[in-house]
Amino acid sequence: MLNKIKQRIDAILGSGDMPTRRPELRAHFESNVPGLYVIGDLAGAPVIKMAMAQGVEVIEHIAEKPDAKAGDANVYDLLIAGGGAAGLNAALAAQERGLRALVLEKNKIANTIEDFPDGKWVYAEPDSSPPKGKLWLDGARKEDLIARWHQIVRENRLEIRTEEGLASLEKQRDAGFVVHSEKGEYRARRVILATGQRGNPRKLGVPGEEREGVYHRLYSPRHYHDQDILVVGGGNSAVEAALVLAEQNRVRLSYRSSELSRIFNDNERKLNEAVAQKRIELIFNSNVKEFADKTATLEIDRGGHRESRTVPSDYAFVLIGAELPVKFLKSLGIRMENEWNGSLLRAAAISFALLLGLWFFGGHAADIAGIPFSAVSPAAGALLAAVSLAALIALGWRGDRYAWLGVSFLAWYTIYGVKSPGAGEEFWPFRGWGFQFFSFLGRPATFWYTVLYTVLMTGFGFQALKRWGIDRRDRFQIWRYVSLLSFQWVFFFLIPDFLFQWAVKYQWVGAQLASDPQFAGQAWRSYGLIYAWPLFFYSFFYDPHKIWIVWGVFLTFILIPVFVLFHGKRYCSWICGCGGLAETFGDRWRHLAPKGRTSIRWEWMNSAILIFAAAVTLGMLLKDAVAWLRAPATLGLDIYHLYADIWLVGILPVTLYPFLGGKVWCRYWCPLAKLMHLFSAVYTRMRVSRFRIVANDKCIGCTECTRNCQVGIDVMSYALKQQPLDNATSSCIGCGICVSVCPMDVLSFATAVNPTLVQIQPARVA
Ligand SMILES: Cc1cc2nc3c(=O)[nH]c(=O)nc-3n(C[C@H](O)[C@H](O)[C@H](O)COP(=O)(O)OP(=O)(O)OC[C@H]3O[C@@H](n4cnc5c(N)ncnc54)[C@H](O)[C@@H]3O)c2cc1C
Ligand code: SF4
Ligand code: SF4
Repeated sequence: MLNKIKQRIDAILGSGDMPTRRPELRAHFESNVPGLYVIGDLAGAPVIKMAMAQGVEVIEHIAEKPDAKAGDANVYDLLIAGGGAAGLNAALAAQERGLRALVLEKNKIANTIEDFPDGKWVYAEPDSSPPKGKLWLDGARKEDLIARWHQIVRENRLEIRTEEGLASLEKQRDAGFVVHSEKGEYRARRVILATGQRGNPRKLGVPGEEREGVYHRLYSPRHYHDQDILVVGGGNSAVEAALVLAEQNRVRLSYRSSELSRIFNDNERKLNEAVAQKRIELIFNSNVKEFADKTATLEIDRGGHRESRTVPSDYAFVLIGAELPVKFLKSLGIRMENEWNGSLLRAAAISFALLLGLWFFGGHAADIAGIPFSAVSPAAGALLAAVSLAALIALGWRGDRYAWLGVSFLAWYTIYGVKSPGAGEEFWPFRGWGFQFFSFLGRPATFWYTVLYTVLMTGFGFQALKRWGIDRRDRFQIWRYVSLLSFQWVFFFLIPDFLFQWAVKYQWVGAQLASDPQFAGQAWRSYGLIYAWPLFFYSFFYDPHKIWIVWGVFLTFILIPVFVLFHGKRYCSWICGCGGLAETFGDRWRHLAPKGRTSIRWEWMNSAILIFAAAVTLGMLLKDAVAWLRAPATLGLDIYHLYADIWLVGILPVTLYPFLGGKVWCRYWCPLAKLMHLFSAVYTRMRVSRFRIVANDKCIGCTECTRNCQVGIDVMSYALKQQPLDNATSSCIGCGICVSVCPMDVLSFATAVNPTLVQIQPARVA
């Protein structure tokens, strides 16, 4: 039972991994092993130009270090593993800065590009930025590009050992490394890993896969004539291979799923033609069970009924992508992103001990079942809390992610516990003392909570503004962050905490309103200026002044629907304070957002909360007219207040920021997001919505857009098929990060009703 619960929790916590797990990197590409850097494809650079840029950037950083040079003739300043775009450009940049670098290359120079099919055109995207460093790059045939790179290597006399890969590493006490290859041993001050991931093709793991005639790459398709060929896979490389092989052979394409969702439109069209002309037999829902002598056995799922079929296969090409060499990276001591090491039970027990310590510390501990808890002194409580916290941090530091989960939970539980005056049993350790303890300088704890919230948003907001707006010179993102920060400061801090009171005091709202206690004494209602129903349904409860009722109805049922017509759910990514914290404080963890079909199915929860909020609202509005409604409506409101307004909007999502990204509340629980989604979906189906993202035909399937989508949308599958992404098929909130991050400028917001007519790229600052 416990095991099952743990498996479930682990499945949820690990749901952000797909499809782009990477090594965990700190600033400047440094891994958790100090002095060991990871760049290029392995670090997520999706194209050659970006891999080259990382090669230069990492050297710029290392060269500035006072100990950049080893100062010993037997020790290299740098050992670079991998002679591809990233590694070669790093070696050239190191040479320019007077650093002595050795490149170890397991195969040939630029082996990944060598492995491209003969004559393949290599694109030099993105056009918007020039190549960095000394390595040459322009659109060219692979053979020409490689010839230029060899020439550059020769002219610069780079020290490269080919056919010699890095096998293992030892970190030395003097902070350097001993590097072992298959042929020798080297000492280096620092190591840069630029080994890519293409050398690690994904395998099926079925019997016969290692046989002669079963390959995981296709180099020269025109060498095959009049053969029976089985291609396995459903991506572009498998489809392209099948198409080119079908020109001179009998080809079957086996794919495990029932549709090809990640291929270019053009490939889809050509494949459909080839299937219609019987040049390719497409076998969906099929899995290879075994490769034998000139045959392969497939298991085909026909609507629940499985059948076995043996097909002729003189040659088979298994083209199902490449795998991150996790085992190799781990053997070097590199930690992967989202790695759940440690013990959930241990972290939970220590977290409980910490809460117990806080209970004692507050001086309100009571005896339970004859156990004299009240006798424990506050000092002992403080000690227990401090030791528990130290233990969690120490465990976290040693890689126990559950311990960090505990720390994160305790931090936000404390913040919400102490800001709730008169908190009941639900905030057990803080009951009776937390609120007073954190109320100071004449201001209540709720005020300090708003200050903390605004400070966090501002500090991290500037970081995010720099990351997405200023550094990329992306005007769309600059305005978005300016908007988010301005709404937080003006509408969720200055107005409720200062300006409302001044407006009453100095009668800016008119003498009549200012002297009306029903209006003047309720500054908290000003949150309803921006927060619409049902995110903030208190505009309608507790005897509001009629101005709030009129505004609440206007905001929810006129302003918001009109806004959604033009901007979809951009309220979540441009205006809302809840979304604002996620877009700023939560930004660094955006790639951990749950992905995949199951994670999308979980989105049913915000429909349930919307229905619950509507029921509570109706109950509260009718309770004075219908006597029997009074008790259930009040109970419903209390439940909603505790679970939705505190746990679901506050404690849980912010606790989960570092583990599931920032949008847990917005995506799974926010009833207003669901309401806007419904409006937007209806507009889209009526073909009047002005909001959608469109794609051109240049997607290279790098996964950057999918990885960075905070609401877990597989943007890449839309891009590859050039299918418009809207709110009829996704919960997109229009943050535009996928548009900004795409290295090929594939994506853009469509402003016209018919997206195929107009494509507007986000404006970039000149
Ligand atoms: C089919 C295909 C088509 C593509 N088309 C384009 C395109 O048109 N334009 C574009 O910009 N990008 C394209 N890409 C992406 C591009 O290939 C990568 O972005 C780029 O190669 C990454 O460079 P890198 O140096 O990080 O890694 P790689 O180029 O993969 O280089 C890594 C090197 O490390 C070596 N190595 C591996 N293990 C070890 C070890 N243990 N020790 C030492 N050396 C090791 C490998 O042999 C290899 O030479 C394409 C990719 C594929 C698969
Ligand atoms: S699809 Fe793009 S714009 Fe929409 S939420 Fe995801 S990253 Fe933002
Ligand atoms: S649309 Fe997405 S997958 Fe395609 S190139 Fe752009 S970021 Fe990469």
